[in-house]
Amino acid sequence: MTTFADLGLSADILKAIQDVGYTTPTPIQEQAIPYVLQMRDVLGCAQTGTGKTAGFVLPMLEILGAGRARARMPRSLILEPTRELAAQVAENFETYGKYHKLSMAKLTGGEAMDEQVKALDRGVDVLIATPGRMLDLFERGRIMLADIKILVIDEADRMLDMGFIPDIERIAGLLPPLRQTLFFSATMPPEIRKLADRFLNNPKTVTVAPPATTSIMITQKFVMLAQTNDWLKRETLRVLLRRDEVKNAFIFCNRKRDVAALHKSLTRHGFNVGALHGDMEQSERTATLDKFRKNEIALLVCSDVAARGLDIDAVSHVFNFDVPFHADDYVHRIGRTGRAGLEGAAYTLVTPDDAKQIAAIESLIKKTIPREVIEGLGEPRAESKKPPHRHHREDRFRDRAFKPRERSAPLSHPPHPPQSPLSPPVRAEASPAARSVSKSKESPVTSDRSVDDLPAFLRRAPLPGEKKGVAE
Ligand code: AMP
Repeated sequence: MTTFADLGLSADILKAIQDVGYTTPTPIQEQAIPYVLQMRDVLGCAQTGTGKTAGFVLPMLEILGAGRARARMPRSLILEPTRELAAQVAENFETYGKYHKLSMAKLTGGEAMDEQVKALDRGVDVLIATPGRMLDLFERGRIMLADIKILVIDEADRMLDMGFIPDIERIAGLLPPLRQTLFFSATMPPEIRKLADRFLNNPKTVTVAPPATTSIMITQKFVMLAQTNDWLKRETLRVLLRRDEVKNAFIFCNRKRDVAALHKSLTRHGFNVGALHGDMEQSERTATLDKFRKNEIALLVCSDVAARGLDIDAVSHVFNFDVPFHADDYVHRIGRTGRAGLEGAAYTLVTPDDAKQIAAIESLIKKTIPREVIEGLGEPRAESKKPPHRHHREDRFRDRAFKPRERSAPLSHPPHPPQSPLSPPVRAEASPAARSVSKSKESPVTSDRSVDDLPAFLRRAPLPGEKKGVAE
Protein backbone atom coordinates (compact mmCIF):
# COMPACT_ATOMS: atom_id res chain seq x y z
CA MET A 1 0.00 0.00 0.00
CA THR A 2 1.29 3.46 -0.89
CA THR A 3 2.23 5.65 2.07
CA PHE A 4 2.61 9.43 2.26
CA ALA A 5 6.38 8.93 2.52
CA ASP A 6 6.33 6.98 -0.79
CA LEU A 7 4.88 10.06 -2.49
CA GLY A 8 8.04 12.04 -1.88
CA LEU A 9 6.89 14.33 0.93
CA SER A 10 9.45 15.50 3.47
CA ALA A 11 9.65 14.86 7.21
CA ASP A 12 7.96 18.10 8.35
CA ILE A 13 4.93 17.43 6.20
CA LEU A 14 4.79 13.76 7.16
CA LYS A 15 4.81 14.81 10.81
CA ALA A 16 1.93 17.25 10.26
CA ILE A 17 -0.03 14.51 8.44
CA GLN A 18 0.61 12.13 11.29
CA ASP A 19 -0.64 14.76 13.76
CA VAL A 20 -3.94 14.99 11.88
CA GLY A 21 -4.19 11.21 11.98
CA TYR A 22 -4.21 10.30 8.28
CA THR A 23 -2.62 6.93 7.69
CA THR A 24 -2.79 6.51 3.92
CA PRO A 25 -3.18 8.88 0.99
CA THR A 26 -6.57 9.00 -0.72
CA PRO A 27 -6.60 8.00 -4.43
CA ILE A 28 -6.51 11.63 -5.65
CA GLN A 29 -3.57 12.35 -3.34
CA GLU A 30 -1.75 9.22 -4.46
CA GLN A 31 -2.16 10.23 -8.10
CA ALA A 32 -1.75 14.01 -7.94
CA ILE A 33 1.00 14.59 -5.37
CA PRO A 34 3.90 13.03 -7.37
CA TYR A 35 2.98 15.06 -10.48
CA VAL A 36 2.71 18.30 -8.55
CA LEU A 37 6.11 17.62 -6.99
CA GLN A 38 7.51 17.07 -10.48
CA MET A 39 6.23 20.60 -11.28
CA ARG A 40 3.82 19.24 -13.88
CA ASP A 41 0.50 20.89 -14.71
CA VAL A 42 -2.37 18.79 -13.40
CA LEU A 43 -5.95 18.43 -14.56
CA GLY A 44 -7.82 16.86 -11.65
CA CYS A 45 -11.34 15.53 -11.94
CA ALA A 46 -12.41 15.12 -8.33
CA GLN A 47 -15.18 16.19 -6.06
CA THR A 48 -14.85 17.63 -2.59
CA GLY A 49 -14.74 14.88 -0.03
CA THR A 50 -12.08 12.96 -1.94
CA GLY A 51 -9.15 14.62 -0.16
CA LYS A 52 -8.38 16.81 -3.16
CA THR A 53 -7.42 19.85 -1.06
CA ALA A 54 -4.54 18.02 0.60
CA GLY A 55 -3.75 16.68 -2.89
CA PHE A 56 -2.55 20.14 -3.89
CA VAL A 57 -1.79 21.75 -0.51
CA LEU A 58 0.75 19.13 0.62
CA PRO A 59 3.00 19.26 -2.47
CA MET A 60 2.66 23.05 -2.62
CA LEU A 61 4.05 23.27 0.91
CA GLU A 62 6.92 21.09 -0.23
CA ILE A 63 7.68 23.28 -3.25
CA LEU A 64 7.20 26.63 -1.54
CA GLY A 65 9.20 25.57 1.52
CA ALA A 66 12.35 26.17 -0.51
CA GLY A 67 11.99 29.95 -1.09
CA ARG A 68 10.86 33.18 0.54
CA ALA A 69 8.21 35.75 -0.38
CA ARG A 70 8.77 39.42 -1.09
CA ALA A 71 6.41 42.24 -0.11
CA ARG A 72 3.26 42.36 -2.24
CA MET A 73 4.58 39.59 -4.46
CA PRO A 74 2.81 36.36 -3.60
CA ARG A 75 4.46 33.16 -4.80
CA SER A 76 1.35 31.10 -5.37
CA LEU A 77 -2.31 31.78 -5.96
CA ILE A 78 -5.29 29.56 -5.21
CA LEU A 79 -8.62 30.68 -6.67
CA GLU A 80 -11.78 29.46 -4.98
CA PRO A 81 -15.38 30.21 -5.99
CA THR A 82 -16.70 30.97 -2.49
CA ARG A 83 -15.46 32.50 0.73
CA GLU A 84 -16.25 29.32 2.65
CA LEU A 85 -14.09 27.22 0.36
CA ALA A 86 -11.29 29.77 0.58
CA ALA A 87 -11.55 29.55 4.38
CA GLN A 88 -11.38 25.75 4.26
CA VAL A 89 -8.29 25.75 2.06
CA ALA A 90 -6.67 28.28 4.40
CA GLU A 91 -7.40 25.97 7.33
CA ASN A 92 -5.79 23.10 5.42
CA PHE A 93 -2.65 25.20 4.89
CA GLU A 94 -2.47 25.98 8.58
CA THR A 95 -2.96 22.35 9.58
CA TYR A 96 -0.50 20.78 7.17
CA GLY A 97 1.97 23.67 7.22
CA LYS A 98 2.34 23.88 10.97
CA TYR A 99 6.03 22.92 10.82
CA HIS A 100 6.73 25.38 8.00
CA LYS A 101 7.29 29.09 8.21
CA LEU A 102 5.23 29.90 5.16
CA SER A 103 2.92 32.90 5.22
CA MET A 104 -0.55 32.98 3.83
CA ALA A 105 -3.20 35.59 3.05
CA LYS A 106 -6.86 35.09 2.30
CA LEU A 107 -8.51 37.65 0.01
CA THR A 108 -12.24 37.23 0.03
CA GLY A 109 -15.18 39.58 -0.23
CA GLY A 110 -17.32 40.47 2.75
CA GLU A 111 -14.32 41.06 5.00
CA ALA A 112 -12.41 44.27 5.74
CA MET A 113 -9.65 44.91 3.19
CA ASP A 114 -7.20 46.51 5.65
CA GLU A 115 -6.02 43.27 7.23
CA GLN A 116 -5.75 41.59 3.84
CA VAL A 117 -3.68 44.47 2.48
CA LYS A 118 -1.40 44.45 5.54
CA ALA A 119 -0.76 40.72 5.09
CA LEU A 120 0.06 41.28 1.42
CA ASP A 121 2.47 44.08 2.29
CA ARG A 122 4.36 41.77 4.63
CA GLY A 123 4.81 39.30 1.74
CA VAL A 124 2.94 36.03 1.33
CA ASP A 125 3.88 32.63 0.02
CA VAL A 126 0.31 31.53 -0.55
CA LEU A 127 -2.57 33.72 -1.62
CA ILE A 128 -6.03 32.17 -1.38
CA ALA A 129 -8.63 34.31 -3.08
CA THR A 130 -12.05 34.59 -4.62
CA PRO A 131 -11.72 36.09 -8.13
CA GLY A 132 -13.63 39.35 -7.50
CA ARG A 133 -11.71 40.49 -4.43
CA MET A 134 -8.43 39.44 -5.98
CA LEU A 135 -9.00 41.63 -9.07
CA ASP A 136 -10.24 44.47 -6.90
CA LEU A 137 -6.99 44.54 -4.92
CA PHE A 138 -4.93 44.14 -8.06
CA GLU A 139 -6.64 47.13 -9.63
CA ARG A 140 -5.87 49.17 -6.53
CA GLY A 141 -2.21 48.33 -7.06
CA ARG A 142 -1.94 46.29 -3.84
CA ILE A 143 -0.72 43.05 -5.43
CA MET A 144 2.00 42.29 -7.94
CA LEU A 145 1.59 39.00 -9.70
CA ALA A 146 4.96 38.70 -11.39
CA ASP A 147 6.31 36.20 -8.86
CA ILE A 148 3.48 33.65 -9.00
CA LYS A 149 5.00 30.21 -9.59
CA ILE A 150 1.91 28.09 -8.93
CA LEU A 151 -1.70 28.78 -9.85
CA VAL A 152 -4.52 26.58 -8.53
CA ILE A 153 -7.99 26.88 -10.04
CA ASP A 154 -10.28 24.91 -7.76
CA GLU A 155 -13.91 23.92 -8.40
CA ALA A 156 -13.73 25.14 -12.00
CA ASP A 157 -17.24 23.94 -12.86
CA ARG A 158 -18.64 26.03 -10.05
CA MET A 159 -16.63 29.03 -11.25
CA LEU A 160 -18.33 28.55 -14.59
CA ASP A 161 -21.81 28.36 -13.02
CA MET A 162 -21.13 31.50 -11.03
CA GLY A 163 -19.97 33.47 -14.04
CA PHE A 164 -16.36 33.79 -12.82
CA ILE A 165 -14.68 32.53 -15.95
CA PRO A 166 -14.00 36.00 -17.47
CA ASP A 167 -12.37 37.02 -14.16
CA ILE A 168 -10.28 33.85 -14.11
CA GLU A 169 -9.18 34.44 -17.68
CA ARG A 170 -8.17 37.99 -16.78
CA ILE A 171 -6.25 36.84 -13.74
CA ALA A 172 -4.48 34.10 -15.71
CA GLY A 173 -3.47 36.74 -18.28
CA LEU A 174 -1.80 38.77 -15.52
CA LEU A 175 0.37 35.90 -14.31
CA PRO A 176 3.79 34.90 -15.62
CA PRO A 177 3.33 32.42 -18.49
CA LEU A 178 6.03 30.21 -17.05
CA ARG A 179 4.26 28.75 -14.07
CA GLN A 180 2.73 25.53 -12.82
CA THR A 181 -1.07 25.32 -13.06
CA LEU A 182 -3.28 22.89 -11.18
CA PHE A 183 -6.88 22.79 -12.33
CA PHE A 184 -9.61 20.91 -10.43
CA SER A 185 -13.22 20.35 -11.27
CA ALA A 186 -15.87 17.94 -10.01
CA THR A 187 -17.31 17.56 -13.51
CA MET A 188 -15.74 18.02 -16.94
CA PRO A 189 -18.36 19.40 -19.31
CA PRO A 190 -16.99 20.57 -22.70
CA GLU A 191 -16.70 24.25 -21.62
CA ILE A 192 -14.51 23.23 -18.70
CA ARG A 193 -12.34 21.03 -20.84
CA LYS A 194 -11.83 23.88 -23.30
CA LEU A 195 -10.85 26.15 -20.48
CA ALA A 196 -8.41 23.57 -19.12
CA ASP A 197 -6.84 23.29 -22.57
CA ARG A 198 -6.24 27.03 -22.56
CA PHE A 199 -4.75 27.24 -19.08
CA LEU A 200 -2.74 24.04 -18.86
CA ASN A 201 0.46 23.06 -20.54
CA ASN A 202 0.78 19.36 -21.33
CA PRO A 203 -1.05 18.41 -18.14
CA LYS A 204 -1.21 15.08 -16.35
CA THR A 205 -4.83 14.10 -15.90
CA VAL A 206 -5.95 12.51 -12.65
CA THR A 207 -9.49 11.27 -12.11
CA VAL A 208 -10.77 9.64 -8.97
CA ALA A 209 -14.46 9.14 -9.54
CA PRO A 210 -16.32 9.24 -12.79
CA PRO A 211 -18.04 12.61 -13.03
CA ALA A 212 -21.51 12.84 -11.58
CA THR A 213 -21.72 9.68 -9.57
CA THR A 214 -23.49 9.65 -6.24
CA SER A 215 -22.14 7.82 -3.24
CA ILE A 216 -23.58 4.40 -2.47
CA MET A 217 -23.69 5.51 1.16
CA ILE A 218 -26.59 7.85 0.38
CA THR A 219 -30.17 6.62 0.31
CA GLN A 220 -31.97 8.81 -2.18
CA LYS A 221 -35.72 9.44 -2.45
CA PHE A 222 -37.92 11.64 -4.61
CA VAL A 223 -40.90 12.69 -2.52
CA MET A 224 -43.68 13.28 -5.03
CA LEU A 225 -46.13 16.09 -4.34
CA ALA A 226 -49.48 16.13 -6.09
CA GLN A 227 -49.48 19.89 -6.54
CA THR A 228 -47.11 22.77 -6.95
CA ASN A 229 -47.92 24.52 -3.75
CA ASP A 230 -45.65 26.29 -1.26
CA TRP A 231 -47.59 25.29 1.83
CA LEU A 232 -47.65 21.65 0.76
CA LYS A 233 -43.89 21.71 0.27
CA ARG A 234 -43.25 23.17 3.69
CA GLU A 235 -45.65 20.75 5.35
CA THR A 236 -44.08 17.77 3.59
CA LEU A 237 -40.68 18.90 4.77
CA ARG A 238 -41.92 19.20 8.33
CA VAL A 239 -43.41 15.71 8.17
CA LEU A 240 -40.11 14.29 6.93
CA LEU A 241 -38.11 16.16 9.55
CA ARG A 242 -40.31 14.81 12.31
CA ARG A 243 -40.56 11.31 10.87
CA ASP A 244 -36.96 10.47 10.06
CA GLU A 245 -34.09 10.19 12.43
CA VAL A 246 -32.79 13.56 11.30
CA LYS A 247 -29.73 14.36 13.32
CA ASN A 248 -28.77 17.38 11.27
CA ALA A 249 -29.47 18.44 7.73
CA PHE A 250 -28.79 20.80 4.89
CA ILE A 251 -32.03 22.02 3.30
CA PHE A 252 -31.45 23.46 -0.17
CA CYS A 253 -33.55 26.11 -1.89
CA ASN A 254 -32.93 27.43 -5.39
CA ARG A 255 -33.34 31.10 -4.54
CA LYS A 256 -32.04 33.33 -1.78
CA ARG A 257 -35.48 34.72 -1.01
CA ASP A 258 -36.82 31.21 -0.55
CA VAL A 259 -33.99 30.45 1.86
CA ALA A 260 -35.12 33.38 3.99
CA ALA A 261 -38.82 32.44 3.78
CA LEU A 262 -38.28 28.78 4.66
CA HIS A 263 -35.93 29.69 7.48
CA LYS A 264 -38.60 31.96 8.93
CA SER A 265 -41.31 29.34 8.57
CA LEU A 266 -39.26 26.54 10.19
CA THR A 267 -38.29 28.87 13.02
CA ARG A 268 -41.97 29.69 13.58
CA HIS A 269 -42.63 25.98 13.77
CA GLY A 270 -40.08 25.62 16.52
CA PHE A 271 -37.23 24.01 14.57
CA ASN A 272 -33.66 24.72 15.53
CA VAL A 273 -32.63 26.17 12.19
CA GLY A 274 -30.13 28.56 10.62
CA ALA A 275 -29.83 30.08 7.15
CA LEU A 276 -26.93 30.49 4.75
CA HIS A 277 -26.97 32.39 1.48
CA GLY A 278 -24.64 34.52 -0.58
CA ASP A 279 -26.05 37.91 0.44
CA MET A 280 -25.36 37.46 4.13
CA GLU A 281 -22.53 39.30 5.86
CA GLN A 282 -19.43 37.14 6.06
CA SER A 283 -19.35 37.31 9.87
CA GLU A 284 -22.93 36.05 9.99
CA ARG A 285 -22.15 33.22 7.56
CA THR A 286 -19.13 32.14 9.57
CA ALA A 287 -21.05 32.27 12.86
CA THR A 288 -23.94 30.22 11.43
CA LEU A 289 -21.60 27.60 10.01
CA ASP A 290 -19.74 27.34 13.31
CA LYS A 291 -23.01 26.72 15.12
CA PHE A 292 -23.98 24.05 12.60
CA ARG A 293 -20.59 22.38 12.93
CA LYS A 294 -20.93 22.35 16.72
CA ASN A 295 -24.48 20.98 16.48
CA GLU A 296 -25.90 24.11 18.09
CA ILE A 297 -28.08 24.41 14.97
CA ALA A 298 -29.59 21.17 13.69
CA LEU A 299 -30.88 22.36 10.32
CA LEU A 300 -29.31 24.70 7.81
CA VAL A 301 -31.45 26.17 5.04
CA CYS A 302 -29.10 27.26 2.29
CA SER A 303 -28.50 28.17 -1.32
CA ASP A 304 -26.11 26.29 -3.61
CA VAL A 305 -23.53 29.04 -3.59
CA ALA A 306 -23.30 29.15 0.19
CA ALA A 307 -23.07 25.41 0.66
CA ARG A 308 -20.75 24.49 -2.18
CA GLY A 309 -18.00 22.18 -1.05
CA LEU A 310 -18.56 22.66 2.66
CA ASP A 311 -16.60 20.02 4.44
CA ILE A 312 -18.77 19.00 7.36
CA ASP A 313 -18.72 15.35 8.21
CA ALA A 314 -21.57 13.47 9.86
CA VAL A 315 -24.50 15.29 8.27
CA SER A 316 -27.35 12.78 8.42
CA HIS A 317 -29.69 14.29 5.80
CA VAL A 318 -29.91 16.53 2.79
CA PHE A 319 -33.31 17.87 1.75
CA ASN A 320 -33.80 19.46 -1.61
CA PHE A 321 -36.72 21.74 -0.86
CA ASP A 322 -36.46 22.70 -4.52
CA VAL A 323 -35.22 20.41 -7.28
CA PRO A 324 -32.01 22.09 -8.44
CA PHE A 325 -32.08 23.81 -11.83
CA HIS A 326 -28.91 22.00 -12.92
CA ALA A 327 -28.58 18.27 -12.54
CA ASP A 328 -24.95 18.44 -11.41
CA ASP A 329 -26.00 20.63 -8.47
CA TYR A 330 -28.01 17.63 -7.30
CA VAL A 331 -24.81 15.60 -7.09
CA HIS A 332 -23.05 18.36 -5.17
CA ARG A 333 -25.94 18.95 -2.81
CA ILE A 334 -26.49 15.35 -1.80
CA GLY A 335 -22.73 14.88 -1.49
CA ARG A 336 -22.98 16.93 1.73
CA THR A 337 -24.20 13.73 3.40
CA GLY A 338 -22.87 10.17 3.29
CA ARG A 339 -19.33 11.42 3.91
CA ALA A 340 -16.42 9.86 5.74
CA GLY A 341 -17.88 6.36 5.56
CA LEU A 342 -21.19 7.28 7.24
CA GLU A 343 -24.60 6.61 5.78
CA GLY A 344 -26.81 9.47 4.73
CA ALA A 345 -30.24 10.18 3.30
CA ALA A 346 -31.20 12.64 0.58
CA TYR A 347 -34.83 13.60 -0.01
CA THR A 348 -35.93 15.75 -2.90
CA LEU A 349 -39.38 17.35 -2.92
CA VAL A 350 -40.73 17.00 -6.44
CA THR A 351 -43.72 18.92 -7.77
CA PRO A 352 -45.48 18.26 -11.08
CA ASP A 353 -43.48 21.17 -12.52
CA ASP A 354 -40.17 19.41 -11.90
CA ALA A 355 -40.53 16.47 -14.30
CA LYS A 356 -37.84 17.65 -16.70
CA GLN A 357 -35.33 18.40 -13.97
CA ILE A 358 -35.69 15.04 -12.26
CA ALA A 359 -35.38 13.26 -15.59
CA ALA A 360 -32.13 15.17 -16.17
CA ILE A 361 -30.85 14.14 -12.73
CA GLU A 362 -31.59 10.48 -13.30
CA SER A 363 -30.00 10.58 -16.70
CA LEU A 364 -26.86 12.24 -15.28
CA ILE A 365 -26.38 9.83 -12.39
CA LYS A 366 -27.60 6.85 -14.43
CA LYS A 367 -29.86 5.70 -11.63
CA THR A 368 -33.60 5.62 -11.03
CA ILE A 369 -34.38 7.21 -7.71
CA PRO A 370 -37.19 5.57 -5.72
CA ARG A 371 -40.38 7.64 -5.45
CA GLU A 372 -42.30 8.13 -2.26
CA VAL A 373 -45.76 9.62 -1.85
CA ILE A 374 -46.74 10.81 1.58
CA GLU A 375 -50.46 10.67 2.07
CA GLY A 376 -52.63 12.47 4.58
CA LEU A 377 -50.95 15.82 4.31
CA GLY A 378 -54.22 17.71 4.73
CA GLU A 379 -55.60 20.30 2.41
CA PRO A 380 -53.30 23.06 1.27
CA ARG A 381 -54.16 26.40 2.77
CA ALA A 382 -55.89 29.16 0.84
CA GLU A 383 -52.54 30.94 0.56
CA SER A 384 -51.53 28.52 -2.23
CA LYS A 385 -49.62 30.52 -4.76
CA LYS A 386 -50.09 28.27 -7.76
CA PRO A 387 -53.04 26.18 -8.82
CA PRO A 388 -52.45 22.52 -9.54
CA HIS A 389 -51.03 21.97 -13.00
CA ARG A 390 -53.58 19.87 -14.72
CA HIS A 391 -52.13 20.05 -18.20
CA HIS A 392 -48.55 19.29 -17.64
CA ARG A 393 -46.59 18.28 -20.68
CA GLU A 394 -45.03 15.26 -19.04
CA ASP A 395 -48.32 13.43 -18.51
CA ARG A 396 -46.79 10.04 -18.90
CA PHE A 397 -44.37 10.72 -16.08
CA ARG A 398 -47.06 12.23 -13.88
CA ASP A 399 -49.41 9.32 -14.25
CA ARG A 400 -46.73 6.92 -13.27
CA ALA A 401 -45.15 8.91 -10.52
CA PHE A 402 -48.13 10.19 -8.62
CA LYS A 403 -50.26 7.09 -8.34
CA PRO A 404 -50.68 6.15 -4.68
CA ARG A 405 -49.88 2.54 -5.43
CA GLU A 406 -46.37 3.69 -6.28
CA ARG A 407 -45.95 4.68 -2.66
CA SER A 408 -42.91 3.23 -1.07
CA ALA A 409 -42.29 2.58 2.58
CA PRO A 410 -40.40 5.11 4.63
CA LEU A 411 -36.66 4.59 4.48
CA SER A 412 -36.24 1.15 5.87
CA HIS A 413 -32.71 1.69 7.10
CA PRO A 414 -32.48 4.88 9.09
CA PRO A 415 -29.16 6.42 8.20
CA HIS A 416 -28.20 6.87 11.82
CA PRO A 417 -28.83 4.42 14.60
CA PRO A 418 -31.90 5.27 16.67
CA GLN A 419 -29.77 5.21 19.80
CA SER A 420 -27.60 8.09 18.65
CA PRO A 421 -27.29 10.60 21.52
CA LEU A 422 -28.88 13.31 19.44
CA SER A 423 -31.79 11.24 18.22
CA PRO A 424 -34.12 10.07 20.95
CA PRO A 425 -35.46 6.62 20.04
CA VAL A 426 -39.02 6.17 18.70
CA ARG A 427 -39.59 9.91 18.71
CA ALA A 428 -40.23 10.04 15.00
CA GLU A 429 -42.75 7.22 15.03
CA ALA A 430 -44.47 8.59 18.11
CA SER A 431 -45.14 12.03 16.68
CA PRO A 432 -48.54 12.74 15.13
CA ALA A 433 -46.82 13.54 11.88
CA ALA A 434 -45.10 10.19 11.81
CA ARG A 435 -48.33 8.34 12.46
CA SER A 436 -50.10 10.22 9.74
CA VAL A 437 -47.57 9.14 7.19
CA SER A 438 -48.76 5.59 7.35
CA LYS A 439 -52.42 6.48 7.85
CA SER A 440 -54.91 7.20 5.16
CA LYS A 441 -56.49 10.47 4.15
CA GLU A 442 -59.00 10.47 7.01
CA SER A 443 -56.42 11.85 9.39
CA PRO A 444 -54.92 14.92 7.79
CA VAL A 445 -51.79 16.31 9.30
CA THR A 446 -52.14 19.90 10.31
CA SER A 447 -49.22 22.14 10.93
CA ASP A 448 -50.65 23.64 14.12
CA ARG A 449 -48.74 21.33 16.33
CA SER A 450 -46.98 22.14 19.54
CA VAL A 451 -43.27 22.75 19.45
CA ASP A 452 -43.11 20.09 22.14
CA ASP A 453 -43.77 17.46 19.48
CA LEU A 454 -40.29 17.99 18.14
CA PRO A 455 -37.36 15.96 19.37
CA ALA A 456 -35.29 18.15 21.69
CA PHE A 457 -32.34 18.51 19.31
CA LEU A 458 -34.55 19.77 16.50
CA ARG A 459 -36.31 22.25 18.76
CA ARG A 460 -35.14 25.82 19.05
CA ALA A 461 -35.03 27.76 22.33
CA PRO A 462 -38.25 29.71 23.01
CA LEU A 463 -38.15 33.35 21.96
CA PRO A 464 -38.72 36.02 24.61
CA GLY A 465 -42.43 36.32 25.46
CA GLU A 466 -43.34 33.44 23.15
CA LYS A 467 -46.47 31.37 23.78
CA LYS A 468 -46.59 27.62 23.32
CA GLY A 469 -47.80 26.21 20.03
CA VAL A 470 -47.11 27.41 16.56
CA ALA A 471 -49.11 28.40 13.56
CA GLU A 472 -48.24 28.79 9.93
P1 AMP B 1 -11.50 17.49 0.59
O1 AMP B 1 -11.93 16.62 -0.54
O2 AMP B 1 -10.21 18.13 0.39
O3 AMP B 1 -12.61 18.45 0.96
O4 AMP B 1 -11.30 16.55 1.90
C1 AMP B 1 -12.34 15.83 2.48
C2 AMP B 1 -12.03 15.33 3.88
O5 AMP B 1 -11.08 14.27 3.85
C3 AMP B 1 -11.44 16.39 4.82
O6 AMP B 1 -12.14 16.30 6.03
C4 AMP B 1 -10.01 15.97 5.00
O7 AMP B 1 -9.57 16.35 6.28
C5 AMP B 1 -10.09 14.46 4.86
N1 AMP B 1 -8.84 13.84 4.35
C6 AMP B 1 -8.00 14.35 3.43
N2 AMP B 1 -7.00 13.49 3.20
C7 AMP B 1 -7.20 12.40 3.97
C8 AMP B 1 -6.51 11.16 4.16
N3 AMP B 1 -5.41 10.86 3.49
N4 AMP B 1 -7.03 10.29 5.04
C9 AMP B 1 -8.17 10.56 5.70
N5 AMP B 1 -8.88 11.71 5.57
C10 AMP B 1 -8.40 12.62 4.70
